[in-house]
Order: sequence, then structure tokens, then C-alpha cells
Amino acid sequence: MEKKLRKESVCVQAGWTPKNGEPRVLPIYQSTTFKYDDSDQMARLFDLKDTGYFYTRLQNPTNDAVAAKIATLEGGAGAMLTSSGQAANFYAVFNICEAGDHFVASNTIYGGTFNLFGVTMKKLGIECTFVDPEWDDERIEAAFRPNTKCFFGETISNPGGHVFDIERFARMAHRHGVPLIVDNTFATPINCRPFEWGADIVTHSTTKYMDGHATSVGGAIVDSGNFDWMAHADKFPGLCQPDESYHGLTYAKAFGKMAYITKATAQLMRDLGSIPSPFNCFLLNLGLETLHLRVKRHCENAQAVAEYLERHERVAWVNYCGLKGNKYYELGQKYLPDGSCGVIAFGLKGTKEDAVRFMDSLKMIAIVTHVADARTCVLHPASHTHRQLSDEQLREAGVAPDLIRLSVGIENVEDIIEDIQQALDASK
Ligand SMILES: *Cc1c(COP(=O)(O)O)cnc(C)c1O
Repeated sequence: MEKKLRKESVCVQAGWTPKNGEPRVLPIYQSTTFKYDDSDQMARLFDLKDTGYFYTRLQNPTNDAVAAKIATLEGGAGAMLTSSGQAANFYAVFNICEAGDHFVASNTIYGGTFNLFGVTMKKLGIECTFVDPEWDDERIEAAFRPNTKCFFGETISNPGGHVFDIERFARMAHRHGVPLIVDNTFATPINCRPFEWGADIVTHSTTKYMDGHATSVGGAIVDSGNFDWMAHADKFPGLCQPDESYHGLTYAKAFGKMAYITKATAQLMRDLGSIPSPFNCFLLNLGLETLHLRVKRHCENAQAVAEYLERHERVAWVNYCGLKGNKYYELGQKYLPDGSCGVIAFGLKGTKEDAVRFMDSLKMIAIVTHVADARTCVLHPASHTHRQLSDEQLREAGVAPDLIRLSVGIENVEDIIEDIQQALDASK
């Protein structure tokens, strides 16, 4: 057996293993299609009897190499890349839910996901019940129904920085015979591998730390291969009964640990698209090669900035799980012992206008609708990403109206702190 590499080496080495004389660096297969010598070979591919490439909407060698690297990083059985994190979260749920089904999600999740689950999926006949992860087990489990198909949460929530008790929610999901899906975007597999705590499926917006340079929007779904679909065959007919659109093939029987990812590729990508371009996957792979270095630096810088903010007289509150005494400190020590992420949520004393004046006074740090890349940036969710939500919905989504999201980059931390300092002074 091949030696199992440590995560830092996986970042650099996994996915693309060139054969004799092939390019050392992952090539960009910028081709929509692939050529075969005879018609029968192609027919076997369409029957899913052989594996091979025929059309990039289904599979592409560049994309597959990067998916394999992410699967290895998470310790999963397989992965599928998508054109955005939104597509990843949609497909992750839609792969096992159909009209008339229901699922449960933590209310401390990314605003885009909150809207996707609460508004858009409802129009498809799929209902989501949001629960507050701080409720006790009994109150949360009351949300499960006979037609519930999964539970969804975020390792570290965007933008609030809540830490999700993965083990506890996996236990609850499994008690009800459904998988736990965890969006691991902020933690990345460098700091947390949700499968080790019982999660069944992991999603990513690769747009964030994985790409790391804010060049390409993208997403990923990783399956642990651990959930026993056939043990709950009545709940998951899409995986456990013959697929008429694929010659009566039953995914859970034909593909074992790869059933969920194969179905997502063969059905959802085939019918709905949303693939990333091979070029974007090439860029994502460059980001992944330094993920372990960057994440470490993001966390060191954020820890110093969080400690600085906590001491500042104009700061009303700071949420960063690396701070001793923080509400999520213990959960952070359990799930994220090597560091959490570079994102800090905090509020200034004063009004919403004071927050806006502070952000407008920053010089090096920019106001952008992005998070988790090399450059430090800042955002006020209530006036930007979440502005379509009412104050009540904001609170429901765990976003305080005065919350400023500071995404600490990998610059010299003294420059970051000095910029915050001068903006706090200038906006007095
Ligand atoms: C950004 C983000 C998403 C959405 O991803 P896109 O790549 O922007 O579509 C989903 N989940 C989390 C936690 C995010 O931060």
C-alpha cells in the first residue's frame, strides 16, 4: 500500500501523479470533449460500465485531480467540484431530497445558504426547519419528521463565528437515520476534518481559503462513504432504488462508498450543470498547494488582532473562538485545536453609522464582498451581504445588526493592527 501522506504533503502532492514523461504540474485539459476510437467504447461510458472521460459537464481530468486532492484532505471516499459554494450546498442536499421532503439546518449559517434553504428550495417543494444549535437535544430533535432527510450545519459559521458541535449533531442526525452535512469552508481540512467527528458529507465554498487569492468562485462536495444508505432504503429511494434515467441502475448497490458522489455527478451535473472550468480548477489547485501555510498565518494574525480588539475601549464585543473566555472557546479547543480561521466578528460601541465610518476610514484594509483570502478585508453584513434580511431574520441567522466581519489576511500583522488603530482614531 502507498504510504499515507500527512496533510501538508497532501496539499502539495495529492491528486495529480504524472506517469513517465508527463507534465510535472497538473495540466489544464481545456477541452469540452474526449475522443474514442470506436462507438462501443463510448456506449460503455454512457452506461457507466467503464470509467473515462467523454464530456466535461460530467467529468474532466483537471477537475478530477483537484477533487481527488480535496477528498484526500478531508479523508473522504470521493468528491465532486461545483462552480460555486452555493451549487455545492444545493446539490449536497438536493442529491438526497426531493419535492415533499424535509431537512433540518442550524440557523447559524451563511446568509446565501440560509436563503437557498428557506426560500428557493421551498419553491421546489423541499422544506427546511431552522434550529438554534444552542437549544437542548430534545428541542432540536422535535424538528425531525418522518420525511426528514438530513441535518446541515457549518463548522465555523459565516459571519458570526459560531463553532458547531459536530459530534453532538452527528449523534442526533444518526438517531433519526439521516446523514449530517457540514459546510467546512472556514475551518478547512487543515484545522478540522468533520468526518473524524461523525459527519457524513462535507461541503466547501472553495472560493475562500482553498483558492485563497480571490481569483475563482467554486465549490466542492466530499462524501465520507460512511453513511449506510441501504440501512435506510425507504428514506433514500434515489440512492436505493433503480434510476430509470440510467437503465435501472441502483447507485447504493452498484457503487458502494462512491454511491452518493456518483449519483450527484451522473444525475445532478448531467441535468443541472454548474461545473467549474478546468482553468479555475487549475487556479484552485495552486491555492491548495499553499493552504496549510496560509491557514496557519491567517490564524496567527487573527489571534493577535482579536486580542487587540478585545482590549480596545471602543470595541463593544469580539467573537473569535481563540479568545479565552469566548463562548466558543471550549468547542474551539475540541474541534479546532490548531487554530480556527482568520475571520473575526466584532461590534463597535455606538451606532450603525459609527461602524460604517470606521470601515470607510480604513486604508490598507478594503471593504469587499469577500472573505477568507490573502488580503485583509472587512464587511458589514447588515448593510451588505445580508441587507435583504429584516432585523428579525438577521437575529434568526445569528447576525447582530452591529456585527463587523473582519477577514484577517496574511500581511504583516503590525500593518493590519496599525490600520485598524488609525481608522478607530479617525472615526471617533
Ligand atoms: C461563501 C460561502 C458560501 C457560498 O459560496 P460561493 O462560493 O460564494 O457560492 C457557502 N458557505 C459558506 C460558509 C461561505 O462562506
